[in-house]
Amino acid sequence: MKILIFGSGGREHALAWAVAKSPRVTEVVCAPGNGGIAAMGGLVRLEPVSLSDLDAMVQVAVAEQPDLTIVGPELPLSLGLVDALELRGLKVFGPTKAAAKLETSKSFAKRFLQRHQIPTANYAVCTSAAEVEKAIEFFHAPIVVKADGLAAGKGVVICQSKRAALEAAHGLFTGKLLGSKEQQVVIEEFLQGDEVSFLCLSDGKHVAPLVPAQDHKRIGEGDTGPNTGGMGVYSTGSILEPEMQEWILHHIARPTVRGMAQEETPFVGVLYIGLMMTPRGPQVLEFNARFGDPETQAIVMRLESDLVEALEACVEGRLSETEFRWKPGASACVIASSGGYPGSYQTGFEIAGLDDVAKVPGVQVFHSGTALVDGKLRTSGGRVLGITAAGDSLAEALKLAYGAVAKIGFEGMYFRRDIGHRALKKTR
Ligand code: AMP
Repeated sequence: MKILIFGSGGREHALAWAVAKSPRVTEVVCAPGNGGIAAMGGLVRLEPVSLSDLDAMVQVAVAEQPDLTIVGPELPLSLGLVDALELRGLKVFGPTKAAAKLETSKSFAKRFLQRHQIPTANYAVCTSAAEVEKAIEFFHAPIVVKADGLAAGKGVVICQSKRAALEAAHGLFTGKLLGSKEQQVVIEEFLQGDEVSFLCLSDGKHVAPLVPAQDHKRIGEGDTGPNTGGMGVYSTGSILEPEMQEWILHHIARPTVRGMAQEETPFVGVLYIGLMMTPRGPQVLEFNARFGDPETQAIVMRLESDLVEALEACVEGRLSETEFRWKPGASACVIASSGGYPGSYQTGFEIAGLDDVAKVPGVQVFHSGTALVDGKLRTSGGRVLGITAAGDSLAEALKLAYGAVAKIGFEGMYFRRDIGHRALKKTR
């Protein structure tokens, strides 16, 4: 079986690693991939492509004729890559452009949640500064102002006053904040509580939860400083107790999948639900329509059953027959980033220690921003490596991951030393 994966991050490296373990898989093509995926060798190879060029991605898939295609990031989903490949008779894991609107349009997601009575913060969708001025009269500070479209994690501003909210909305409409002008902004009530991510697979009718995983978005220890793509993640049962998981499945995940099917945009793929655990219960903050990065790195480390079987079952509408087997215990992923990230940073530095770490049982290094240049792995992005480990407990997984981090080095390497700190405190 031949698998094609679109994407170039740590998530795609983790997916390539997990699918390559399936006894049914004979070939894995990653487009465009990265240095770490290139270095896997064996049945894995890269195909160059731009993830913003729909025609080029379609050409790659048509030429490769894979048995299953997996779309990693949100940009190709928003361009309609799944629709284009299905039209050509290919099997694709991921939502259509219409179904991906749960992620690509916050106004769509909020209205959808309201239509289906799924718990979420009160909101208003505004198309002008005048509308924002009227709407914010109904909100108390702090007020959350969100760009409607994809913004790579930079589209949310938490405003301490109504004036600041007006300014933020103005910045989004004029393009000052994100570079591109927003046609719509979402004004939202501020929710207080712990944030939790809940990821499940959907075949358009059924949902199957993945093991819970929690990321650390901020650059600084103690969850301080600017937001990043994610500086680390851990997966352990204590993140969400089974009763709470069942509540979220019943009140949020299943109604979402049912609602999408009723509206004739069935959702096939990963439904990633960002939740705030508030005193009035879990409330949806956002949806992602794809695997998280770095959540995927921690999740695949605990998956014992065949990932290809599960993804194929989603595409074929038979997820309810699929059994998942997970390693008990925990996993953890520590991101090593280029010094300066998420601000400006330099790349091109040689990475040392990877061969040593490759020999450590229970540890996998998933690459994000690396390139294989003349046979040597060099840094090529902000987030460079996801050093990931599984263990019988979270403490053990973290010990293994940090032990491996200590063996790896490149100029300016930065990592947080407190991944999993909240969960560790809970289990003590
Ligand atoms: P989003 O992309 O909508 O998940 O927003 C990004 C981050 O902004 C979330 O992970 C939260 O930390 C924060 N956020 C978004 N919406 C709210 C809200 N209504 N109340 C409090 N924080 C929020």
